[in-house]
Amino acid sequence: MKQMKKILLIATGGTIASKYTDKGLSPQISAEELLSYVPEAREFCEIDHIQPFNLDSTNVCSRQWTQLAELIEKKYEYYDGFVICHGTDTMAYTAAALSYLIQNNLKPIVVTGAQKPIDLAITDARANLLDSLRFASHPKAHGTNIVFGGSVIAGTRAKKERSKSYNAFSSINYPDIAVIQDRRIIFYIDDKNHITDRIRFYHKLDDRVFLLKLIPGSSGAIIDSLAETTDA
Ligand code: ASP
Repeated sequence: MKQMKKILLIATGGTIASKYTDKGLSPQISAEELLSYVPEAREFCEIDHIQPFNLDSTNVCSRQWTQLAELIEKKYEYYDGFVICHGTDTMAYTAAALSYLIQNNLKPIVVTGAQKPIDLAITDARANLLDSLRFASHPKAHGTNIVFGGSVIAGTRAKKERSKSYNAFSSINYPDIAVIQDRRIIFYIDDKNHITDRIRFYHKLDDRVFLLKLIPGSSGAIIDSLAETTDA
């Protein structure tokens, strides 16, 4: 019998794990409960789960990015792949941060989420989670990618472009890595054997970075004042 892949599900909150409360959506669904909605996944992988935090992703920043990278480093040798359930608002930032914090990585790290909570009758959450577990179990999968709405997008290229549609993320200036249709994964980029260096985990990020959008007529004085409080 073919040996099943061992996947670690890392639940961090977001809409996928949210319930409606009188204050709006709030992340409340546990990792174990998320998995109860995709029982078919046990046909192709073994899954353990862990919940390092339970946040709306608008509250996720560099502290959580390094926490996730450290968690994956600790568990790396015990699993074939990792699936992170995450809110969509800052998912692209987390995926990019993990891509840089964990380099030359031959194992898949999939970041996923949903536009609707997993416990609703009509939701993209179950399909996204099942696709993510399927992709993380595929022998050609590697590195950090977002799996969402049937697309697999490189972690360094993803952008949330739509706030309601199920195809919320696009890959910017780079093709999708793969698409997932029904149970099939079709790869557009198959480059696992290009990785020859040893895996490397990084542990520090500098928070003093500012992203400035320039428009015609922007004053150079803005840059002078930013230089006082930022490193880059
Ligand atoms: N505000 C939510 C979050 O990013 C939105 C979502 O998950 O779709 O956690």
